[in-house]
Amino acid sequence: MKDNRILIIEDEESICDILSYALRKEGYTVKYSNTGSKGVLLIETFNPDLIILDIMLPDTNGFNICKDVNRKYRLPIIMLTARNDIVDKVLGLELGADDYITKPFDIRELTARVKTILRRIGQSSDSTLKNIIYIDENIYINTNSRTVYKDEEEIKLKPKEYDLLLYFSLNKDRVFTREELLDKVWDFNYEGDLRTVDVHVQRIRKKLDYTSSSIIETVFGIGYKMGRG
Ligand code: CA
Repeated sequence: MKDNRILIIEDEESICDILSYALRKEGYTVKYSNTGSKGVLLIETFNPDLIILDIMLPDTNGFNICKDVNRKYRLPIIMLTARNDIVDKVLGLELGADDYITKPFDIRELTARVKTILRRIGQSSDSTLKNIIYIDENIYINTNSRTVYKDEEEIKLKPKEYDLLLYFSLNKDRVFTREELLDKVWDFNYEGDLRTVDVHVQRIRKKLDYTSSSIIETVFGIGYKMGRG
């Protein structure tokens, strides 16, 4: 196995101790932080492959970190929830956590989940992972090669179709007007009319073989948005 690095952000010292002991025994390099702010710094300096993240932290809550990590780094996250709280779980998963585990947890179960996630991402190797953006569970973008895959098959997009899809995927849940999209995705001085946006959206939907209500959604009277897949 590669030397995978795991970052634990958790304020309970005893949990950090148990977890890092168990994970080091499995061959992982482990660091932990008892606060959210130090944890965020460690993401930069320690460059982890996976984060185990507590929700209730002294200086912030794990959801904020999760949202941030998912936006900037797209690292896999396992959330630790204190209670068997379905709201926490759903919120965590919506914010981009890959998995959650309820405290008190079985340490073997947690290490098994860590292994599963790292194996899954290991197939694309960690250097390319950061260049992969998931649109939903079947479709992803490889920003290195500017390619789009659906069910592991490459979908050929024209450059502007690709740019538009990428722009939406980096701004999920945000509604854009056609004017904004023309401005952001096309050249600033592009003289095209607003129909250009519609045509591109339709082509993307068609190529990805999705109905008009999904992938890039029409927000009636305003424009378009991409929901969380
Ligand atoms: Ca806590």
